[in-house]
Amino acid sequence: MFRASHWEKTTFLREADVLVVGAGLTGLQAALELKRRNPKLDVLVIERAPLPRGASTRNAGFACFGGPTELLADLDAYGPESMVKTVRQRYEGIQALEENYAERGIDWQKLGGYEVVEEAAITQVQGRLQELNGLLAEVTGRAETWSPVSPSYFCRSTTSTIAGAFYNPLEAQLHPGKLVTVLLADCHAVGIRFLFGSTVLAVEEGRVEVEDFGSLKAERILLTVNAFARELLSDDFPEAIRPVRNQILLSRKIPNLKIEGCFHFHEGYVYFRNVGEDRLLIGGARHLAGVRSETDAFGANEAIADMLVNALQRWFPEYGLSRADFPDAWSGIIAQGDGKEPVLRYARQNVLVAGRLAGMGVALSAALARQAANLLLNKG
Ligand SMILES: Cc1cc2nc3c(=O)[nH]c(=O)nc-3n(C[C@H](O)[C@H](O)[C@H](O)COP(=O)(O)OP(=O)(O)OC[C@H]3O[C@@H](n4cnc5c(N)ncnc54)[C@H](O)[C@@H]3O)c2cc1C
Repeated sequence: MFRASHWEKTTFLREADVLVVGAGLTGLQAALELKRRNPKLDVLVIERAPLPRGASTRNAGFACFGGPTELLADLDAYGPESMVKTVRQRYEGIQALEENYAERGIDWQKLGGYEVVEEAAITQVQGRLQELNGLLAEVTGRAETWSPVSPSYFCRSTTSTIAGAFYNPLEAQLHPGKLVTVLLADCHAVGIRFLFGSTVLAVEEGRVEVEDFGSLKAERILLTVNAFARELLSDDFPEAIRPVRNQILLSRKIPNLKIEGCFHFHEGYVYFRNVGEDRLLIGGARHLAGVRSETDAFGANEAIADMLVNALQRWFPEYGLSRADFPDAWSGIIAQGDGKEPVLRYARQNVLVAGRLAGMGVALSAALARQAANLLLNKG
């Protein structure tokens, strides 16, 4: 095994008060929260890759709380209390992002959110919009959080299969890479230590086993590895945490692009947005891949990519798009469970797990990080 020097052991590898595993949005914000509450804490973040390698720098950059078809499905599956609670957490997260980071060069644009629906879903959404808005009013303070708009607002073609659209002015978009860059700068500014490119192989109370370096000690450990948590947890950890691959396509420059904002389709499984003035990003459709998307392996599923492009051809025939118009593509891994709520639970004494943010971690991670810091400092 590689042997660390005395100099390394007494600096980079020295015992920490809190050791955070995973440098995604949750881990970075939790590290910052811990330092804010107690600047004397020695906080070390360990990340297996040279850059965070999960979802935080690979997502679509929606600061959103969900479209009508997703929220109505959640309402039916989990009941009004749970649906409203998750929307409240997401909405508060959007407000916190706006307050803390919108002015810090993260390409924050509050263009609002749209849900597009095809013929099969329009009557169902229209029929339940009042019910949904009634429940959301206590969170957003608006009588009509989602309101119908004409698709002609963003779609020029008369042959589009988009039969209806709904809009809210509260959602925003951002540049995930820039957000993580700002968080990293904040972490460095307050003296949070980092070990990038170091994989945690096992976690025990008071110590972790790190590839190359062996055992590192810490009084408290926070696991923010999200979709990759199962590898580090014992079989009796009660929460389901399933890795699911999501992929994204980014277009070449499209002249006269009329699409602006965060767009949701079919319970949030498909999402698209503008990137700058002339590029189109589309992602998701994991529901069409079934169990094949249940993997923690990065990579492409060309059949899904084709389906995403086909959907754009149906919705926006005016651009004449084909797969070749999307030269850039990548994937990321989200964590799914049996419900919509994140996991925040001790795996063993002084080892806390905070994660499973599904497709909403941009909005949700700040609140989860705050709760995790509270618990670790015994204020939860
Ligand atoms: C394609 C895609 C699109 C998405 N779009 C949106 C969106 O528009 N809006 C939204 O709100 N959410 C979106 N999400 C979800 C959102 O990105 C996640 O919920 C959020 O980033 C989770 O943050 P996290 O810090 O908890 O986990 P992650 O970002 O996954 O971070 C976990 C980190 O732990 C590290 N790690 C794992 N195992 C180990 C180990 N053994 N040792 C050391 N380090 C380890 C990983 O490398 C990773 O960096 C999307 C996700 C994907 C994949």
